[in-house]
Amino acid sequence: MVRTPTERGLGRLGAVLPVWASLGLATPAAAFTVFACEPEWAALTRVLLPTARVHVATHAGQDPHHIEARPALIAQLRSADLAVCTGASLESGWLPSLQERAGNARARDVFLAADHVELIDPQPGAIGTPWAGDVHAEGNPHLHVHPRKLLEVTQALAERLGKEAPAERAGIEARRSAFELRWRQRILEWERLAAPLRGRQVAAQHTGFGYLWHWLGIRQTADLEPKPGMSPTPGHLQRLLDGLRAAPPMAVVISGYQDPRPGRWLSGQLASAGARVPLLVLPATVPDDGGERELAHWFDGLLRELLQVAGR
Ligand SMILES: [Zn+2]
Repeated sequence: MVRTPTERGLGRLGAVLPVWASLGLATPAAAFTVFACEPEWAALTRVLLPTARVHVATHAGQDPHHIEARPALIAQLRSADLAVCTGASLESGWLPSLQERAGNARARDVFLAADHVELIDPQPGAIGTPWAGDVHAEGNPHLHVHPRKLLEVTQALAERLGKEAPAERAGIEARRSAFELRWRQRILEWERLAAPLRGRQVAAQHTGFGYLWHWLGIRQTADLEPKPGMSPTPGHLQRLLDGLRAAPPMAVVISGYQDPRPGRWLSGQLASAGARVPLLVLPATVPDDGGERELAHWFDGLLRELLQVAGR
């Protein structure tokens, strides 16, 4: 029998296709697709639903307040069954425009992590618009740096995923429960390790690690930003310097996506005044292809760096 090139091609495919295809059965449903605004929510989604297809809009080297609504992101949001974001206005400068252009009704009802935890430092009456700086009137949205809050979000996300993908509900719940056990164990270990950090002081740029300070009992005594979201200015840094000389913090802390020059200047000025205050650049979140292991490594690393500058 002479076969056409197409038939020969299919014959070759038959050798590698799964059983359902060779039996002529219907193909499995497309994977549940999640659009995660930040890598931490992608990681939690992978913990709960490892078969999900996950698109991540930002990575640790990007400032999540300010993201360009690129065509690739619009296409990813368009194909999503669910969008998982931080909320509390963190993405207010870019997510609405993505949603409008993606036109995907399913992904309109975004899961917002901030709706499921108590936020710190709300500023009632403050004007939070993309043009007035990253004011965060509803409270600090950078809640993923608090492992206990992360657990509360996991609970809510498991419920939502179970509703959106009912066939997966039992598996999601089993994974949530197992994750919670392991994560609680890790929290206890971290809290034991971090005990010497309680009461220590840091200067930091923005409130991106505000929950970490809150969790560990560290005080942020200076913000390199003159106004939330505004880049440090020479005049503001000079004013900070006078106060920090009198009460030197253990470090000047910035996120990996921030310009290190202002923090480096401040650290250098304090050093010439005889105070050893190193600049500490901490990753703002996990790698964008991360899961549970990367989440745990990230907290391990944050604590290790802080304990090191604290001399412990
Ligand atoms: Zn912020």
